[in-house]
Amino acid sequence: MVSNDEIIVLPEEIAIKIAAGEIIERPVNVVKELVENALDAGSDEIKIEITRGGKGLIRVSDNGKGVLPHELKKTILRFGTSKIRSLDDLTKIDTFGFRGEALAAISSISNFSIKSGRDSFDTYELSVDFGKINSFSMVAAYKGTIVTVKNIFMEVPARYRFLRSNGSETREITNLIKQFIIINSNVTFRYYVDGKKIYNYIKGDNALGRTYELLGEKNLKSIEYKDHKYTINSIISDPSIQKYKADNIIISVNRRIVKDNIILKAIKQAYSFALPHNRYPVVIFNITVEGSEIDINVHPAKHMIKWLNPNEIFHLIYNVIRNNVSLENIDLIKENDLLEAKFLPNDNKYIYKYKEVYNLPPLFNDEVYENNLLVKKDRIKVIGQLFDTVILVEKDNKIYFIDQHIAHERILFEKFLQNNILDKNVGTYLSEPILYEFDFDKIEFLEHSINEFGKIGFEFERFGRNAIKLTKVPSYLLKNEVGDIFEALINEIDEISDETLKFKIIASLSCKAAVKANEKLSNVEMEKIVNDLFKTKNPYTCPHGRKIIYELSKEALYKKFNRLQ
Ligand code: ADP
Ligand code: MG
Repeated sequence: MVSNDEIIVLPEEIAIKIAAGEIIERPVNVVKELVENALDAGSDEIKIEITRGGKGLIRVSDNGKGVLPHELKKTILRFGTSKIRSLDDLTKIDTFGFRGEALAAISSISNFSIKSGRDSFDTYELSVDFGKINSFSMVAAYKGTIVTVKNIFMEVPARYRFLRSNGSETREITNLIKQFIIINSNVTFRYYVDGKKIYNYIKGDNALGRTYELLGEKNLKSIEYKDHKYTINSIISDPSIQKYKADNIIISVNRRIVKDNIILKAIKQAYSFALPHNRYPVVIFNITVEGSEIDINVHPAKHMIKWLNPNEIFHLIYNVIRNNVSLENIDLIKENDLLEAKFLPNDNKYIYKYKEVYNLPPLFNDEVYENNLLVKKDRIKVIGQLFDTVILVEKDNKIYFIDQHIAHERILFEKFLQNNILDKNVGTYLSEPILYEFDFDKIEFLEHSINEFGKIGFEFERFGRNAIKLTKVPSYLLKNEVGDIFEALINEIDEISDETLKFKIIASLSCKAAVKANEKLSNVEMEKIVNDLFKTKNPYTCPHGRKIIYELSKEALYKKFNRLQ
């Protein structure tokens, strides 16, 4: 404790450790800074290795332009940067870094080394331990730069304490690496976790392919947009893809990965017609814009940017999505004459040119939506039931195969959601508590979220290292297979808010309560399901994202018989 009121200026070595906290909170921040440095150095091959969630080791090796021997010591100086020279340069910055703070911060809180070489110069290595230079010497030649960071925060206990489990730190890093890989398809990335090769992507493959593989989704298309100011390369998902988390929304501005609220809001609003509340699409936006349109200097870790024209970018993003995401098989979008569309076969790529970008009327106001769907009873003919599982429907010139279970699940889901069943139910204590075993990570997570669970009627307590005891559940659940529902819920969830919880419980309930496959239905029952289905917000996919409707056109069927009419 301070013994008097004398004001002192903190010694540099303490000041820098405090300042480091603004840039580096956890291992993933180190990885981001190092990979960005590698990209700034023009590398097209980058290897990232981590151990113990980055707490043991983080090493980034690149084949970039390197640092000259006599410059190496300057890299760890605060405000030591090669990227700007004057205040004016800030407006035309095209590198990730420029503040010259990252390596200073990182080397002050770890066992750090930077080894770098350039053609026709010797390779040198500088090691720094928690801010103190330990050695500087010539080493075996290497072309490019290798930065090694060990034991992060080991000597800064106040910060070490805030690190999460290895698994959870690793997940964050992996998630970041995925984003780098998708955004920089012209760069080879190799990624190792605890000695195991996780990713190996070779430069030159395309962003769409990388996205398919890394995010495991196929119903994506790429849209390119260009006007005099903005170039937008985007990949967007159709409404059949419904994610529980927003981490498949990746935004980069001038190649810099950002979390931009304006863009996020535009994405959310544009998808709101197609996705249930709290479900997220897969969206990649690569935006290129003149440096003078944005200010990236607002956040030390550069996650945030300030737009000169926020409205403009909002509408741009909103319209790119709104004009290109369709509910499958609904002709509405294709007929939209505001677009000139060019479809490149085999490439899964649509290129749209806008005749007009701003103030497009919404494509899916409720009226249009209702009129264009199959809701009008008289236009739907239920033919019968196939295999006691699939309802066969004729409508206009199409045949629809509808999965009865998934359809009913979607109907109940929206009904439950509308009636907010869980809000009306306080918890009830179980006569016998139920014991569950989960991974340690999960248990940690549950302990942290006890309050959120409490709000909707769940109560449980820790039981040893790997188990919890469930003592109270929302009253509504009592009638159901509460044990299963809770377990399924916990296994699915790793992000918490009352809303996600509610949403997931309702999805589980709908699934349990819906008619099953292999169940005979009467005509009246089938008609009811079909009619109710087409009144739902999204008749094409269930709350878990499974397909409800498969469609076959009359022409396609006739073609099989070589019949023209
Ligand atoms: P900034 O990136 O903001 O300039 P850093 O602290 O991240 O600051 O890096 C300081 C300087 O070290 C950079 O400006 C660059 O000159 C040099 N440097 C860091 N990493 C690399 C690398 N991988 N390849 C080449 N030069 C690098
Ligand atoms: Mg940097």
